[in-house]
Amino acid sequence: MLRYHTIPVTAFQQNCSLVWDDASLQAAVIDPGGDLDRILAAVEERGLKLEQIWLTHAHIDHAGGTGELAERLGLPIVGPHPGDQFWIDGLPQQSRMFGFPPAKAFTPTRWLADGDSVTLGAHTLHVRHCPGHTPGHVVFHAPEIQRAFVGDVLFAGSIGRTDFPQGNHQQLLDSIVQRLWPMGDETVFIPGHGPESSFGRERQVNPYVGGT
Ligand SMILES: [Zn+2]
Ligand SMILES: [Zn+2]
Repeated sequence: MLRYHTIPVTAFQQNCSLVWDDASLQAAVIDPGGDLDRILAAVEERGLKLEQIWLTHAHIDHAGGTGELAERLGLPIVGPHPGDQFWIDGLPQQSRMFGFPPAKAFTPTRWLADGDSVTLGAHTLHVRHCPGHTPGHVVFHAPEIQRAFVGDVLFAGSIGRTDFPQGNHQQLLDSIVQRLWPMGDETVFIPGHGPESSFGRERQVNPYVGGT
């Protein structure tokens, strides 16, 4: 069985998630934006074997701790999509601009594309490319537990900002309707910030994508 635990990190309260197989305790961390000591304490508390870093996109609050964590534990970095290369290159400036600790540069071990999958022990999560908030944004879908880790694509009652370089509002709407909704109304999503919700609920009440 796949399990997960979400830890809000950094001043942006970004939802970093630990995902693990409860039989083998093999684990991945999604979006280690910072506060590595708190993330590693949660790993230790559960006796997890952290094996991989998965990234939805390369904004500082999601990716800021990646280089350091990968180096400290010798972990592979999986994702995001190559469209976010310029955001990775810009992490040092992002950390200065937002008052984060200096972000270590990194190169993903493996870039992701739409239709790819990532594996954790016997479990598979499906990767969908969801550009709009950033051009290289991806989401991770775990159908066996009806969960999706969607970063800053969709929030409970809102959607991601698109006023960044290479942000695109229509593209974001298309990503949500064409790539998230097919995961099913009952699928619960873990957004990059704030509380969980389900796609079915957002299709009803979200002011940006309700009724789609
Ligand atoms: Zn973001
Ligand atoms: Zn964010």
